[in-house]
Amino acid sequence: MDKILNALIMKLAYEKKYYRNNMNITEMISKDHLKLSKPGNEYEQLKIDLMKCKKCDLYKTVKNKVIGYGNRDARIMLIGEAPGANEDREGKPFIGRAGEKLTQMLGYIGLKRDDVYITNVVKCRPPQNADPQKEWIIACNEFLDREMEIVKPKYILTLGRFASRVILNMELTMGQFSGNHYKLENGIIVVPTYHPSSLLIQKGERKEITRKKIANDLKLLKSLMGENNG
Ligand code: SF4
Repeated sequence: MDKILNALIMKLAYEKKYYRNNMNITEMISKDHLKLSKPGNEYEQLKIDLMKCKKCDLYKTVKNKVIGYGNRDARIMLIGEAPGANEDREGKPFIGRAGEKLTQMLGYIGLKRDDVYITNVVKCRPPQNADPQKEWIIACNEFLDREMEIVKPKYILTLGRFASRVILNMELTMGQFSGNHYKLENGIIVVPTYHPSSLLIQKGERKEITRKKIANDLKLLKSLMGENNG
């Protein structure tokens, strides 16, 4: 038992050094213990299966596969397209400048990153950030399905046209998606909005219009959560 505890403390000390400097070891042990004690420990198995995956060619060119990250008991799941260069390097979704924008977006409706679970449709970075191809999405779908099973979100915020199309199975533009919400067959409410990187790419009036649309989509999500008591 001591050996197991020592190994856990060493692992957490490593994680603290590289990822979670703002948390003390005691908090980490209790948080990790809670997560690990979930029946079946599906998330740990998911990570193992993801690391072994060679179901499409993308695994050949990545530095890291990027599993979803965040609160596994969250009511809200955020789903983006695929990892970019920063995410590929660090192995975490939505970091760097787009990640900062996403944190600001969440803050607009009083949410922190710890309140949500964040993932992507495709877990490996496509070369040159290409739009994910159909065969990659189909191959990787198992992992997104398993994340949904683990988190069991009540709400999904899709980030960008691509993720919105995949989740809703509708070929609309982002302008057509924005401002609306949808209910999936399993009862999950989906609110599509723009990818945070659009606020980094766009300029001037166009950027201001997108910013307002994002704000409206987020307010819509918040009001839906209020209507349904969360
Ligand atoms: S993109 Fe998904 S299916 Fe393809 S290798 Fe990576 S984890 Fe496997």
